[in-house]
Amino acid sequence: MNYRSLAFRLGAWYTLLLSATFALVGTATFYGLQHYLRSNLRDSVSRRSAQVEQILIQAPADVTDSAIVREIDTRVAPEFNNRFVRVTREPATLIYRSGPPSDRSFDPSLVSAVTRTHSADTAPPATAIVGDQHLMIRTTPVNAVSGNYIVELGVSFGSIDEVLNRLLDLLALLLPVLIVCAAGGGYWLVTRALRPVDRLSQTAEQMSLQNLTLRLPVVPSGDALERLSISLNTMLGRLRDSVQTSRRFLADASHELRTPLTVIKGELQELAGESTVTQRDLRERVGSVLEEVARLEHLVSGLLVLSRLDAGESQRDWADVDLAELTFSTAEQMRLMADDRGIEIELSALRKALVRGDRARLKQIIVNLLDNAIRFTKRGGTVWLRTAADDMGVVLEVSDTGIGIPSASIPHVFDRFFRVDEARSREDGGAGLGLSIVKSICSVHCADIEVESRVEAGSCFRVTFPRTPHFRAASGRESLVDAPVPIDVPANAPEMTPKG
Ligand code: ADP
Repeated sequence: MNYRSLAFRLGAWYTLLLSATFALVGTATFYGLQHYLRSNLRDSVSRRSAQVEQILIQAPADVTDSAIVREIDTRVAPEFNNRFVRVTREPATLIYRSGPPSDRSFDPSLVSAVTRTHSADTAPPATAIVGDQHLMIRTTPVNAVSGNYIVELGVSFGSIDEVLNRLLDLLALLLPVLIVCAAGGGYWLVTRALRPVDRLSQTAEQMSLQNLTLRLPVVPSGDALERLSISLNTMLGRLRDSVQTSRRFLADASHELRTPLTVIKGELQELAGESTVTQRDLRERVGSVLEEVARLEHLVSGLLVLSRLDAGESQRDWADVDLAELTFSTAEQMRLMADDRGIEIELSALRKALVRGDRARLKQIIVNLLDNAIRFTKRGGTVWLRTAADDMGVVLEVSDTGIGIPSASIPHVFDRFFRVDEARSREDGGAGLGLSIVKSICSVHCADIEVESRVEAGSCFRVTFPRTPHFRAASGRESLVDAPVPIDVPANAPEMTPKG
């Protein structure tokens, strides 16, 4: 027997509680019955005593003692009713004493006089001990025309004791049986109630990382057990998704890393195989290898950022960052790249917008979105940057007049290693991680990101940050945030449907 098991402990508590209840009910029954029987006996003694008192009161002044005796024998019949009656004329003349009762429960000659301390009306019957018997005796003074009397009327507790003893015997016999039944029943009930938990644990034992498709049986109990099995299943579902995502990510990352490595290996092998290499040839080969190394470096740093974001970054260095100022400085740094490609960057719609977060990571969002907008926009195109803050939140928008994204690809653009046109993107140095990094940074900052795009018309990426609590509290002050301004976007720019 496992004494520490839940079944044993629950069973033991159940038995203990039930035994205590039985004992309580038994005791209450015993004392309740005793009280009831005693008060019945008291009533009966009072009634009989009243009969005797009546006889004495109604007797004429010259009544004889034998007449009183006859009258009591006829009307009260104490022996037949197992009662004790004694009538004494004051000061100490014994007029009547009943004979031995028919059940022989006591000897009337041994009953000593009971001293009365209460008034006649309220006097409770006293208890006298006669041999091995207890007698309830009521003593009443009677002032009649024929004299002053003391009436003593009693009855043995024997009949009550007999009933109570029987009850005690019954309880003594029943209680252990009930306790044994309660213990057995309790243990059976508890093990039965815990059977679904056993099934849950058996199924859980069969699970492993390789076998996460199994589901725990849902116990339709409508209580915590059902909720537990449902939440565990939901958790398992999330675990399976996350394991699958990690596996896919690992496979994709290996694939992406292999391509430049294969190119580097090929270039170097060729170089090693050639007996004579011209200076120009060598420079070209090394240039090609360096290009692949740069691609690798870009890829690895992207992976590093993602893994750090996945691991959860600390918010210790977070500060209030003005997105408008950050967007402006970042765009100025990237303007050279845009100029090279003949693309204009338009910054007139930047409005002060405070966000709480990591400045470097927030800058990365702007860099990645702006880099994509420049890379996927044809020469002569325009890229607009907008920041704004209102009661709903803080918005950063990057829109362009670029090549756009086909609607079928839009749901996947934030997936890791996803590229609409793989060859073109790779040529541009894109590893398909830029937008997934943006998405991860947004999650860390509790921001939403959405995209609207039309092929050959352009794309618009919108990031919505929640308002920081202290910023929200201070938003009543005009100096902190400009009033919402209309977006300064030309008619040919792609439209964003307003949120909500
Ligand atoms: P990459 O680093 O390859 O650009 P991203 O994750 O940044 O990867 O983008 C994923 C894909 O989404 C890109 O390959 C490109 O096809 C598409 N994309 C992203 N931004 C734009 C944009 N502004 N215009 C058109 N296509 C875009």
